[in-house]
Amino acid sequence: MVKTKKVKAAGRFGVRYGRKVRTKIADLESLQRKKQKCIFCDGVAKRLSKGIWRCKKCSKKFAGPTFTLNKE
Ligand SMILES: [Zn+2]
Repeated sequence: MVKTKKVKAAGRFGVRYGRKVRTKIADLESLQRKKQKCIFCDGVAKRLSKGIWRCKKCSKKFAGPTFTLNKE
């Protein structure tokens, strides 16, 4: 993976798609890689699909934000 100073992990796209889009995706991906906290307990939730999450601890399945549970 190519990491650049300006757009971090989105450097893998090279010069394509424009700086704004690449900066956005780098921010999103860095959020996604963090542990996602379940909204019911303190467990770690996993994203099954867009906006669908399941907690590993309480095994609840719930709808939520599309990309990350940590963002307010
Ligand atoms: Zn939970």
